[in-house]
Amino acid sequence: MPTTNYPAEPYKIKVVEPIAMTTRQEREQYLKDAGYNTFLINSEQCYIDLLTDSGTTAMSDYQWAGMMLGDEAYAGSKNFLHLQQVVREYYGFKHIIPTHQGRGAENLLSRLCIKPGDYVPGNMYFTTTRAHQELNGATFVDIIIDEAHDAQKDHPFKGNVDLNKLQKLIAEVGAERIPYVCVAVTVNLAGGQPVSMENLRAVKQLCEKHGIQVMLDATRCVENAYFIKEREAACADMSIRAILKQMMSYADGCTMSGKKDCLVNIGGFLCMNDDELYQRASELVVLFEGMPSYGGMAGRDMEAMARGIEESVDFHYIEHRVAQCRYLADKLEAAGVPIVRPVGGHAVFLDARAFLDHLPQDEFPAQTLAAHLYLESGVRSMERGIVSAGRNKQTGDHHRPKLELVRLTIPRRVYTYAHLDVVAQSCIDLYQRRGSITGMKMVYEPAFLRFFTARFEPLPVSAKAPSAQPAEELATA
Ligand SMILES: *Cc1c(COP(=O)(O)O)cnc(C)c1O
Repeated sequence: MPTTNYPAEPYKIKVVEPIAMTTRQEREQYLKDAGYNTFLINSEQCYIDLLTDSGTTAMSDYQWAGMMLGDEAYAGSKNFLHLQQVVREYYGFKHIIPTHQGRGAENLLSRLCIKPGDYVPGNMYFTTTRAHQELNGATFVDIIIDEAHDAQKDHPFKGNVDLNKLQKLIAEVGAERIPYVCVAVTVNLAGGQPVSMENLRAVKQLCEKHGIQVMLDATRCVENAYFIKEREAACADMSIRAILKQMMSYADGCTMSGKKDCLVNIGGFLCMNDDELYQRASELVVLFEGMPSYGGMAGRDMEAMARGIEESVDFHYIEHRVAQCRYLADKLEAAGVPIVRPVGGHAVFLDARAFLDHLPQDEFPAQTLAAHLYLESGVRSMERGIVSAGRNKQTGDHHRPKLELVRLTIPRRVYTYAHLDVVAQSCIDLYQRRGSITGMKMVYEPAFLRFFTARFEPLPVSAKAPSAQPAEELATA
């Protein structure tokens, strides 16, 4: 077959879902109704929906066929046995407990292992993971390498754990107050950045010396395996499947959100090798999820997940997925649009601070950019900046994160390169007339996780932008 710069889709399309083509006038109204917050826009009002890659996957014909084979028995479903067998084969852990989502597994793990006053080190936090740790009395400690916090810094494994930071924490608080180290592969909040095999091995060795468990957040483990194959010479000739299993061999268990790399729309699981921990987990899961043989899942959903795991390690699937991110990033970069580098495995991040450098952070540049992108072409994205960061509880002032980003998240097997052309062109058009874009003010602010439901209004002119034209579109919307 001829080689192309970006590998073509390794699938053909058997079922289609029509998407809405809206006019600019309609989008102006939808956006106004949604308080200029992309979380409050309805799905049917979006042309290309890049809000998240969570649960937005297209399942294969093999998975859909499996849905018809659901064994919905209350106990001992054959689909559970299949899922258990697949997880043992592909991930290598001894025990698996299905849960309704990844956070169900995080809840169980945190309750089982954490005592008040404990510390849980991790390579940058994830919202639900950290929330469950803190709910159970632990303090989260960030042990990711410094490079991860710099949007422009290139590093092949920007998700790596800084072993010195981990060593220092162990020396300070004592190993007995660290129930486990939580390593995310890849790191979502750092932009989908991977962890190297060498780093995973080193973390395991250090933890073993101190009798500390390693628990992976395996949510995007297949993307991580692909980056290892691409960037780590020692693993270049290994299959994705073999890399995945070796990665997992450096952990004592994992939590998993099936909505990402297991290629399903709902589900998750908790794994562990320790028999006693499994015993306690199978007692606790009954309280929060269901019987240990279904957790929070229907039989048919467990079947789809088992089949999704088998498909997820296919080299052509994961190569294409990562290439789609790179394709979009390359187009944007060629036109000078500022993005975060290196590009991760699930999304491209626009650097809104550089994109709208005439807006002060208090006028919500990333939120403003996400609103304008929707207005421009019906492309839905997500703010990851000052709105998502919330307020400092002590001072009441905004947290002001260094990174002010708009996330363009690519669902698995859903969109084509042609869709990504539309996304790129909309961003480029906006960038070329960025000077005319004015900021926004927040007119409704909820007390918790404000980014989900906050409402905004466009400002007529920007405080810091004497040269800016009067707001052309948002103000008239
Ligand atoms: C999505 C996600 C979770 C939580 O999983 P849910 O299935 O949404 O509950 C945990 N960790 C990471 C890195 C995630 O991206």
